[in-house]
Amino acid sequence: MTEKEVTEIRRHFPILERKVGGRRLVYLDNTATSQTPDSVVEAVVNGYTRTKANVHRGVHTLSQEATDLQEETRRRVRDHINARSEREIIFTRGTTDSINLVASSFGRRFRDGDEIILTVMEHHANIVPWQLIRSRTDVKLRVVDINERGELDLDQYRSLFNERTVMAAFCHVSNVLGTVNPVKEMTAIAHSHGVPVLVDGAQASPHLHIDVQDIDCDFYVFSSHKMYGPTGIGVLYGRESLLEEMPPYQGGGEMISHVTFEHTTYAELPFKFEAGTPDFVGIGAFVKALDFLRDTGLDNIEAHEEELLRYATKRLEAIPGMRIFGTAPCKSAVISFLVNDIHPYDLGMLLDKMGIAVRTGHHCAQPLMERLGIPGTVRASFAVYNTREEVNAFISALDRVLPILRG
Ligand code: PMP
Repeated sequence: MTEKEVTEIRRHFPILERKVGGRRLVYLDNTATSQTPDSVVEAVVNGYTRTKANVHRGVHTLSQEATDLQEETRRRVRDHINARSEREIIFTRGTTDSINLVASSFGRRFRDGDEIILTVMEHHANIVPWQLIRSRTDVKLRVVDINERGELDLDQYRSLFNERTVMAAFCHVSNVLGTVNPVKEMTAIAHSHGVPVLVDGAQASPHLHIDVQDIDCDFYVFSSHKMYGPTGIGVLYGRESLLEEMPPYQGGGEMISHVTFEHTTYAELPFKFEAGTPDFVGIGAFVKALDFLRDTGLDNIEAHEEELLRYATKRLEAIPGMRIFGTAPCKSAVISFLVNDIHPYDLGMLLDKMGIAVRTGHHCAQPLMERLGIPGTVRASFAVYNTREEVNAFISALDRVLPILRG
């Protein structure tokens, strides 16, 4: 993308004009959440000022309009990830909620001694929900390791499958290492053992084309707030035949067909899994984030971020004492690093004083930190609106704060 095109994109993100520490904000925490373009904000405002009425309940105009907006988003999400049917698109509160839904509902079929394959690079959202099953069923977690570049050990992955394996769940892109995992190949391996697959797409969906039919996974989950969309909304894609067999996750309004005190029958997909009033205003506005991704072009986004990643990596590598965690050739635009033995919090705090927003800590991946033998990292992550000048500002800020911290 040209500088002019990125400048034009930035105009739609007024927050990027904010000052922090007396300087213009340099926002490099996009892995945690990305900023929101004005088209999405306007759609949220419109949702509250023009069409706010509860969905699926009313015959009146506002309710119908609100329902239409929500269902239009469902169609657009289906197209965006190439699902077969809208029945396979469940709206949730986010990636975490989607994984909890699958673990809780699909997990009902697991038995004592069954095994779930995860990887050492998983976010806590793709670890803890599987552990919660243990309060009912004694499932075992088997964990795939990484090599020194932060890539999964596929031979070990292959070797973990046995007759007790009931699920494989792994991230498409690591939120710490940036590694893009070969999810299609990993899914094929799992399926050759008859094992279903969940892909955590939280970090892939803002950057990559997602085609769930091509990957052939059984579940794919992601959050709107990392895709330039509103907060509090997520998606669970599930293969229709599996969703049909799964029991509801939560009970309440919207998810029923008929209720008596003796017995309840459930609504059709996808509503069976959407109990209660959803964030329909946010869901309606999510369409505008999908428009933004489509109009900007995921190929353009990927190419621009890749260029920033290469440039920032080269500049960081020139800093003495620099250790970058995650150096896979197939990597998304996130750089986790440490410099000498400087504590990540100290570095993050001083950078903040200079207007640079980076994340520090364990990034909700404590098992990975333990595997790497470190308490945490500093993490800089890029989005389509970031620029080379911002990378330069980030490096200059590091050049200023590192001598202070080295003492
Ligand atoms: N998985 C991964 C890989 C993530 O990066 C995140 C967010 N940091 C999550 C899951 C959880 O997403 P959310 O908090 O939106 O539910």
